[in-house]
Amino acid sequence: MGYRVYTRKDIDRLPQLQHLPAADLEAMQVVSAVFPFRVNDYVVEQLIDWSRIPDDPIFQLTFPQRGMLEPDDFQRVRRLLRAGAPASEILRVAREIQGRLNPHPAGQMDLNVPELDGRRVEGVQHKYRETVLFFPAAGQTCHAYCTYCFRWAQFVGDTDLKFAGRDVASLVAYLREHREVTSVLITGGDPAVMSTSVLRRYVEPLLRADLEHIESIRIGTKAPAYWPDRFVADADADDLLRLFEEVVASRRHLALMAHYSHPRELGTPRAERALRRIASTGATVRSQAPVIRRVNDRADDWAELWRRQLRLGAVPYYMFVERDTGPRGYFAVPLARALQIYNEATRQVSGLGRTVRGPSMSTTAGKVLVDGVTDAFGEDLFVLKFLQARDPSWVGRIFFAAYDAEATWLDELRPPSGEADFFFGRALHDAA
Ligand SMILES: *Cc1c(COP(=O)(O)O)cnc(C)c1O
Ligand code: SF4
Repeated sequence: MGYRVYTRKDIDRLPQLQHLPAADLEAMQVVSAVFPFRVNDYVVEQLIDWSRIPDDPIFQLTFPQRGMLEPDDFQRVRRLLRAGAPASEILRVAREIQGRLNPHPAGQMDLNVPELDGRRVEGVQHKYRETVLFFPAAGQTCHAYCTYCFRWAQFVGDTDLKFAGRDVASLVAYLREHREVTSVLITGGDPAVMSTSVLRRYVEPLLRADLEHIESIRIGTKAPAYWPDRFVADADADDLLRLFEEVVASRRHLALMAHYSHPRELGTPRAERALRRIASTGATVRSQAPVIRRVNDRADDWAELWRRQLRLGAVPYYMFVERDTGPRGYFAVPLARALQIYNEATRQVSGLGRTVRGPSMSTTAGKVLVDGVTDAFGEDLFVLKFLQARDPSWVGRIFFAAYDAEATWLDELRPPSGEADFFFGRALHDAA
């Protein structure tokens, strides 16, 4: 089964691109010198509608777009490429630009890595009491890269993956000491890029009898959208399904947290088959994605996405706000607009589709839901609520912010007039 990957060096060769004006191809070269680019033949041949580029949502989702760079940065990199500058010089400039784009949002690298016996537990993040995130080293890439990716910095080699876990023993030791943890989320990148035998090395130890307090194992993945053959036709696809069955047989809930950006990702027979096969193991598929300008900033697209998921047994779970990192000037959707999209979309689906929570911001303090707009106290206000919080006592707490039609992130919001600050304080605001 061919899984064919295209990267930056293929921009000059991909047949689908060759009728584009030379300036457009050059722009892709320029942008992909700064942001990661990786796509595969399934996405190129089955998901992108080439008669609609550049506006096609899957083209915007996977191919470098000129507007992702500020004009000054774009011209600077283009000058270097035109002059045939050495790779080291281009990399130096790319690093400088990347460094200005908040490559590590919400304190991911420093704030959430736990310790055991005085040592950092590599590859583990423990931010919310019940759930531990694990980043297996071999799963820190993806079948294709999203242009809006919030983990983009690791794909351009910025982080050197220093937080990735190479062995599962330290995770198991940590979990044995932390009985309050009930859920382990294996994430990336995309853990489904690993072969089944490698993934098994990470999953099987979690099924031990002395980890009885682990009720659920989740795998965060975009493979059902970007490479459904992982569950259908790959050489070890059947082995993967057997592994899922073993988790379910251990009396644990197995959830594939599937990242679906657009209904078209569920529009191919292979994509449908992948979901049916996953469901046949007893695993649940829950879906999540951010609202992204030019990719999915239409209520009808979300409603259609959720309807297709419901038909296939997947449960809509989170609608996120695009994080404050990378090329967000190009992709960001104002909070007020995201809320409108959410409301218009949920109104179109039955109650089974209204399980999705959002729009939600993953901030340093926690997951903050934009729950509505109201005009209490003679002022237009956002109603906000902690869905998850660094301090468990904040979960479920409602707070208000002055309405702002343009704001795209928590740090752009102000408390209502007369209040000095939000209840959780400035320290945990996400500084830009
Ligand atoms: C979203 C998230 C989780 C999972 O939260 P749930 O509400 O249980 O889905 C865990 N850890 C981090 C850091 C998260 O961002
Ligand atoms: S699937 Fe997730 S980690 Fe991979 S490129 Fe897309 S947003 Fe980034």
